[in-house]
Amino acid sequence: MDLISTRGGERVTAAQAVVQGIASDGGLFVPETFPSVSAEEFEAMAGMDYPERAALILKKYFDEYDGEALLAALKEAYAKFEGDDPAPLVRMESGMYLLELYHGPTCSFKDMALSVLPYLLKKGCELLGKKDKVFILTATSGDTGKAALENFAGAEGVKLMVFYPEDGVSKMQKQQMCTQDGDNVNVVAVRGNFDDCQTGVKKIFGSEKCRKQIEEKGYLLTSANSVNFGRLAPQICYYFSAYLDLVTSGQIGMGDLVDFAVPTGNFGDILAAYYAKRMGLPVGTLICASNKNNVLTDFWRTGAYDAKRPFYRTMSPSMDILIASNLERLIFELTGRNAARTSGLMEALAKSGRYSLSTEEHRKLKAEFYAGCTSEDETVECIYDFFEEYGYPMDTHTGVAMNVAQRYEEKLKEDPMSETHPIVVVSTASPYKFPQDVLYALTGNDVKDSFKGVKRIHLLTAMKVPDPIKAVRYKPIRFKTTVSAEKMFDEVLKFL
Ligand SMILES: *Cc1c(COP(=O)(O)O)cnc(C)c1O
Repeated sequence: MDLISTRGGERVTAAQAVVQGIASDGGLFVPETFPSVSAEEFEAMAGMDYPERAALILKKYFDEYDGEALLAALKEAYAKFEGDDPAPLVRMESGMYLLELYHGPTCSFKDMALSVLPYLLKKGCELLGKKDKVFILTATSGDTGKAALENFAGAEGVKLMVFYPEDGVSKMQKQQMCTQDGDNVNVVAVRGNFDDCQTGVKKIFGSEKCRKQIEEKGYLLTSANSVNFGRLAPQICYYFSAYLDLVTSGQIGMGDLVDFAVPTGNFGDILAAYYAKRMGLPVGTLICASNKNNVLTDFWRTGAYDAKRPFYRTMSPSMDILIASNLERLIFELTGRNAARTSGLMEALAKSGRYSLSTEEHRKLKAEFYAGCTSEDETVECIYDFFEEYGYPMDTHTGVAMNVAQRYEEKLKEDPMSETHPIVVVSTASPYKFPQDVLYALTGNDVKDSFKGVKRIHLLTAMKVPDPIKAVRYKPIRFKTTVSAEKMFDEVLKFL
């Protein structure tokens, strides 16, 4: 299937979109139309395992890829996850569901897509007849970086570079990234926050001069961030899979509506849910949950996006983002796929840090989503209460989504006319990935050492410590460089 740029200047195949990452006009690639899933396909998918379901969905976008090879790649990717289901759905007594997406090699949901991206990229290069090596440049608020490192380490013909905000990731995330093996990877800290990192990376992507220099070294530049359609597409699959699990376990009937609550940062994960809905998944409300960096909640409330505001470092660092890149893809839909209008709004954002929707666009925005945010105290309380009540420990990001979902449920209860649906809360990370903050939420105790936190959480919850967390404890720190945002490209050139 062809993809088009949200800014109107480019049309490419799916393979090209993955290899290129971002459109050359600065826009993001979106599918030309949303492929639909038929009633027969829904029935068939009910009897399939996760990789088979994912292959069916992905093949609709990656139609030039060989179906059997794609399925084989998906099976191989998800075989690296702990347990036999990479995306298990857990039912709580309250009637809420948690979709656990953190059983992969780096313990966050980023593995769901980044374990598949290497295949999509490699095949994509083959299909395009590209012989160059690939250079993957990534900005991370912690989890994308590690998942990209783990999944691309040792990959032939690939070099990967990860920039993360010096003080904007958890100690465990830093430990995971800076101990990464592989001669083809590099990790560099940037003075500033995630937005500074992301803006620095986008500048390199947008600069003809930088691209040329990278090409001269024999590399094609691409991205492993969720701006890359190859990152986004595999995320659509777990919404279908969760839905089918609800059907096959008799919790809902085929066709019943389900709401999803998603802890949101760069707007990739929840956008994938929206795409699933556009493909025919019976989704009611999409609940967009933010932490104290509530730029999205305000956007939904007022119709004005305003990134000019204080930036807070929170205990859910992967959501500490003021410029949510993937929102551009939703804006494109809200404007009726009007590329000129989308470009205008994005230019205003780049120039002045803000833009406003029209009344009609704002109405559409509110029609399908509910947006809410939590304070740090509310997140802590939610994690504590949930563990007290159900014995189920959540990570800090999931805690944000759970709290917003609970408040949404309360709000509906107050209105006798409202229609309610089962709510699936997307659980995006293992509690062991943010051990200090989770321990604090569960017990009120502060510990300095991440692994002490891990041990204490284990004693308290009896939850199994994932092998990848155990594995990084005694590994030597390999990457120690810190640079200012202006110096990022110099580091790239040094590495290549
Ligand atoms: C990346 C991340 C998020 C936010 O996802 P987006 O796709 O950026 O909205 C939430 N939780 C965790 C644990 C993450 O790693």
